[in-house]
Amino acid sequence: MRQVDAREWWLWGFAVTVTLMLTVGIVSLTFPGNRLLQNAEWFDLKEWVRGLACLVLLFDIYTVYQQLQIQQIRRELTERNQLFEVITENAADMIAVVDCAGNRLYNSPAYQKVLGYSSEELKLTSSLEQIHPEDQQRVLEAAEKARLTGRGERLEYRIRHKNGTWRVLESVATAIQNEEGQAERLVIVNRDITERKRAEEALAHNALHDALTNLPNRALFLDRVRHVLALSQRHISYKFAVLFIDLDEFKVFNDSLGHAAGDSLLIQIARRLTASIRGIDTFSRSVLTQGTSPVASEASLARLGGDEFTILLEGIRDCGDAVRVAERIQERLAIPFVVEGQEVVTTASIGIAFCALSYTNSEDLVRDAEIAMYRAKREGKARCQVFDNAMHTFAVKRLRLETDLRRALELGEFRVHYQPIVSLKSGKVVGFEALSRWQRPEGLLLPAHFIQIAEETGIILPMNRLLLREACLQLRAWHSQFPCDPPLTMSVNITPKEFAQPDLAAQIGTILVEVGIDPSSIDVEITETIAMADPQRSSLVLSELKTLGVHLSIDDFGTGYSSLSRLQGFPVDNLKIDRTFISKIDTDSETSEIVRIIIMLAHNLGLKVVAEGAETAEQVSLLKRMKCELAQGYFFARPGDHAAAQALLMNTYSLAARPSPILAI
Ligand code: C2E
Ligand code: MG
Ligand code: MG
Repeated sequence: MRQVDAREWWLWGFAVTVTLMLTVGIVSLTFPGNRLLQNAEWFDLKEWVRGLACLVLLFDIYTVYQQLQIQQIRRELTERNQLFEVITENAADMIAVVDCAGNRLYNSPAYQKVLGYSSEELKLTSSLEQIHPEDQQRVLEAAEKARLTGRGERLEYRIRHKNGTWRVLESVATAIQNEEGQAERLVIVNRDITERKRAEEALAHNALHDALTNLPNRALFLDRVRHVLALSQRHISYKFAVLFIDLDEFKVFNDSLGHAAGDSLLIQIARRLTASIRGIDTFSRSVLTQGTSPVASEASLARLGGDEFTILLEGIRDCGDAVRVAERIQERLAIPFVVEGQEVVTTASIGIAFCALSYTNSEDLVRDAEIAMYRAKREGKARCQVFDNAMHTFAVKRLRLETDLRRALELGEFRVHYQPIVSLKSGKVVGFEALSRWQRPEGLLLPAHFIQIAEETGIILPMNRLLLREACLQLRAWHSQFPCDPPLTMSVNITPKEFAQPDLAAQIGTILVEVGIDPSSIDVEITETIAMADPQRSSLVLSELKTLGVHLSIDDFGTGYSSLSRLQGFPVDNLKIDRTFISKIDTDSETSEIVRIIIMLAHNLGLKVVAEGAETAEQVSLLKRMKCELAQGYFFARPGDHAAAQALLMNTYSLAARPSPILAI
């Protein structure tokens, strides 16, 4: 606008000068006393006046043209100003114009909407006044940069709302330069990003905290351990420990009382653990600060998931301090909790990993604390264990086994062995139990060494599907080779993980159909512990299996905590009495009496009884007398491969039947 004004002034000045010059010229030419020119021959006054009139006309045209252009520019500038006004007045972003000294020249109405200040109120304050003291320096630097370069960088800073709260703004400053190219003013566009910031902070918090208890999660815990590990490597005397806490029987509690109750218990436990580590410094003294300040030990708690909590104990003297903390935690947890109006008593197993120079990463410390916790569980729960090298060796061995187990599936190293089930009445093999074996280069491995790991890693699922298919194919072959009435049966075992599969019955059904075997010759064994873990669900799953047409057996009866009456509701056909009872019936009269009663009660419930682990002739004859229908054990045969089982069948069905066959192989 200033340029337009200047141009207009110049035009007017020029016009006045030219007009004056022409006027003076004409006046002097036509002045009566001017004889010099009038007498000159070459001078024709008329011509000169005509010429000057033409010049005036041309000049007028030029002036009008220039004036029209100036008006056009003015109109455009006015329109642009109006547009700017409309935009700034209605923009959600706050637009401010300040001069080089930081004085406010303009604040858009959005300031009132976002920050509560009217433009009159703002005019009374300096542009820095509402900015957070910690951010003022950065704002000044950004303004300076904008002044020097023409455009500042995107900047985030806090500003005080009229109500006293802090808002976060994102702003960009642009300089307005004068003709000399110097920045004269700054136009600053500010956007309120408080909500976005809050959401980002919440996301960042969630990424590092457990949603249920709001405690730090694994990632944050590992990060803390990483820092402490680095500190202990710099200061050799700085000691710390990681405690791994796992509640005993939490799954049972969760399954029986429901997840809401489980969550409530976990929240209470988190609170109690927080309280137990508060004030830990009263009995622990940091080596680093010994002699200077009293104590500098710290403890931080995290929830890794489920019922697993970890504690990082920093600045302790020795492992004894960590054990004392673990014991204190166990004492505190022993006080009953109240969940949904019920008193709940819980215990925890705690594993401790104490810092050592050999540790190079935080994951290893947590892993070792976990290994120690598992040892504490195995040794009877509700106790604490400090990690040692033997545990490490054990864990490494187990890890190797796990890897080998996965590979074994691909390499087809699993074998099925068959142990005959013999009718005590006829002495004939009436069926087999299919048992897994793992063919390793160093020999045949028994299930005791791998079933548990296969179960924990889930390998059991594909493994047992293979076993079932192979056993069914084998049975189909024997059915045609050794036809008998009723046909030979095949028993297969089900682990808790398999039993938890929602489509267990469908999976088994598919294999039976694919192989083309009559389901009634398949006997599915589940232990009473599996059956009783969730009786309602078990009842449902067993009914589904029953619908397939297979037979059902309760395996290892007597090793769980259930009674026959509790099994009454299940649609089972057979009861397999565990070998711990059978092995003593010929030596211990009390056990013998128990077995007799179990057989009697089972018969009353319409169940057939299979005695497991019959090893001696005395045991077999006692079982016969007790009217036990079937038996299985080394007395008849050890589990063997299909050739051994085939030989047995040949013995039973091709030769003349003998009253009491001893079929040891
Ligand atoms: P189980 O189902 O109770 O199987 C019987 C176990 O007792 C077998 O051990 C068998 O070899 C052993 N046994 C049989 N008669 C005698 C005897 O007279 N004396 C002694 N001392 N033992 C006898 P195995 O094959 O080592 O299997 C152990 C357990 O592993 C089985 O117990 C079963 O629960 C599980 N298992 C084995 N194979 C599989 C499988 O393929 N899948 C699943 N889910 N579990 C399996
Ligand atoms: Mg079994
Ligand atoms: Mg058994």
